[in-house]
Amino acid sequence: MAPISILFESPSMLVITAAVLGLCVGSFLNVVIHRLPKMMEMQWHTDSSEILGTPITASEPYNLAWPRSQCPSCARPITALENIPVVSYLYLRGKCAGCSTAISVRYPIVELITALLSAYAAWHFGWSLALAGALIFCWSMIALTGIDIDTFYLPDSITLPILWLGLIFNLNQTYAPLQDAVVGAVIGYLTLWSIFWLFKWATGKEGMGYGDFKLLAAIGAWLGWQQLPLTILLSSIAGAIVGVTLIVVTGRDRHVPLPFGPFLAIGGLVALFYGNTLTQLYLGRL
Ligand SMILES: [Zn+2]
Repeated sequence: MAPISILFESPSMLVITAAVLGLCVGSFLNVVIHRLPKMMEMQWHTDSSEILGTPITASEPYNLAWPRSQCPSCARPITALENIPVVSYLYLRGKCAGCSTAISVRYPIVELITALLSAYAAWHFGWSLALAGALIFCWSMIALTGIDIDTFYLPDSITLPILWLGLIFNLNQTYAPLQDAVVGAVIGYLTLWSIFWLFKWATGKEGMGYGDFKLLAAIGAWLGWQQLPLTILLSSIAGAIVGVTLIVVTGRDRHVPLPFGPFLAIGGLVALFYGNTLTQLYLGRL
């Protein structure tokens, strides 16, 4: 049997392959979460220097592939053996091999979540075009969640391509008819845009950012407008639960805003896997 045919003839092999792929992609997503915001800020500095006519300070190239990963504490380069997802973290007992500085537990957590979601997508969709899209969707949601938690940014370089990609996947109705997907993108954007301006008009405060509108537009483009009420409902419930828990358990200041992107991502992921079932369930109740 050719190696590739094992994947569509044996569901368990497909799930295991997706999990291993997820571990490796998770490792890359850690780099994206860490570096993309820094790359954006460096670009803004360069752009503003160009506009203001101030001298542009030359800096070393910095992108997703360069420089090589190193310990932030002792600058020891991370070897290939120390870069195996999850395994290296466990082997090193969560410490740098050079200076014993603790390595954030978030790295293996991101790798594990990516592996679990990828495996679940493989189990849910099976060998199909829908699986390929679902993997891209899941990985994008994980990267956006990490970046938004760290920096309150939802980079255009992720939200806009996945919006277009959602429409492309739906050219042949992979997740929703193309018409519903286009309407979903428009309504997704306009819903949060309207809430943003109403909230700002009523309270003078900004409750979310333009990245949130683009993310919900992207979710609408993938899943169709019918999934937007469910996505917003799930995001709001998840946001309320996490917000209240943080205030009660960790004593977080209730005036410090929470990023909304991670909750939209959770809503979008649940809608991707269970949207049709849940929507039928609550429409049935109505
Ligand atoms: Zn070190």
